[in-house]
Amino acid sequence: MVFKGIVEYASINTTYEQAEGGLESSHTCDLLEPGARRRTLPFDWGLECGASLLPRSLGGLLLPTAGKRVGYQTPPLLGHLRPSRYGGLSPPPLPLMVADALKHQCVGGSLCPGVGVQTAAMANQEINRREEFLKTQQGFRKNAYKIIDEMNGWSNNTAGSTHLVDEILHSILFLGKINKTPFSPNEIFSSDDILQALMEKYPRPFQFYLTQLPRRSPFSCVLDMIVLRENPENEEQIKQSLRELISDLAPQFLVSSIICISQKSNTDQSSKRYYGVSMSTNGPNPGKIVIGASCLNNWDEYVSGAVMTYYPNNNEKKAYFDGTIEVPGNIRCESFSLSRDEQMSPCKSCHNLFGLNTEETKKWAYGNCAEPESLSNLLKNEEEVKNGTTVHDRSAENRQRAEEEVRQDLQAVLRMIHFNTWSGEFYNPESE
Ligand SMILES: [Zn+2]
Repeated sequence: MVFKGIVEYASINTTYEQAEGGLESSHTCDLLEPGARRRTLPFDWGLECGASLLPRSLGGLLLPTAGKRVGYQTPPLLGHLRPSRYGGLSPPPLPLMVADALKHQCVGGSLCPGVGVQTAAMANQEINRREEFLKTQQGFRKNAYKIIDEMNGWSNNTAGSTHLVDEILHSILFLGKINKTPFSPNEIFSSDDILQALMEKYPRPFQFYLTQLPRRSPFSCVLDMIVLRENPENEEQIKQSLRELISDLAPQFLVSSIICISQKSNTDQSSKRYYGVSMSTNGPNPGKIVIGASCLNNWDEYVSGAVMTYYPNNNEKKAYFDGTIEVPGNIRCESFSLSRDEQMSPCKSCHNLFGLNTEETKKWAYGNCAEPESLSNLLKNEEEVKNGTTVHDRSAENRQRAEEEVRQDLQAVLRMIHFNTWSGEFYNPESE
């Protein structure tokens, strides 16, 4: 569909994320055309007027332009609306009247350059940058739709699996809400009929995605579904099925890159296999939120204790709590890339958390890898492994303090991205 005519309504939302060197601001502009579906255009005026916007928005107030009717004529620098460059979606170019409206609000700071400074070349460069950004963000919508569609199809012929579709729906709707370019359920599902059918079959994810947090990232539900379909002992088929699904998806969004397999013995191939995948979140804040939620309400206590030792700072241990562990040396805990079909050494972070042997010096965010989920499943089910694991700090008091701090840190991340509707609960999928 191509936009035609005049865009009549606009609203601007501002988000701030912790970035290296300070807060990073970004804005999204929601445009509504009469009779058209709502869509979101990202744009970032942080460089031009962040200094004067920042104090106003940190107080929790919406920008004055939010929700305001903005008269919009054909953009003077572009002349006409462009044909689609988004494979079916045709967002209009940046509405300069909106940009002007935004800049007109920036009267409080002398750093704000004011209206009219931007040259046509700069504006075009900015528009191209935003278009590129928007194009990559469409990967979220595309993957969300495909994964849910696939999961729903699998659940129809896999007994005992509908709770996984329920859970992944909730997880994806939540991540869509907090994505850098937010996607509402309406935007994820292109057809109202599909949306209605899903809402009827799985009403709870739609009811709770704004108030309850997912316990794990979406691809963990995909993993569980595939393991259920292929049976846990069929390791190669499981990896192959995941690779086939991933090969059809856009990179980055909602997809894990690593799978980990743990067994209680590294010599007994017949012992039960426990699987895990790396976090399938995009960007530091969604990752921190899901890792925090997994610590508080999903992982085995030893795994969560280890991750909470570092969460969310990542550089050093808490001064009062060292819940890191050393798993028995004779277990199997091996990871494989899902894109390159090769074995991966544990990263340095996983060595610090679980005592896994490695030469690797790279450190991923604590809790981000596939090892925590796989080891958590192993520890929850194999008493022998649990009994053979060394836990550095077993003090219940210190652990409780760490849990409280993790909950506070989690709330702080949610506040920073303006997600203010969490009830404090975690989502429990409907079981059959
Ligand atoms: Zn790791």
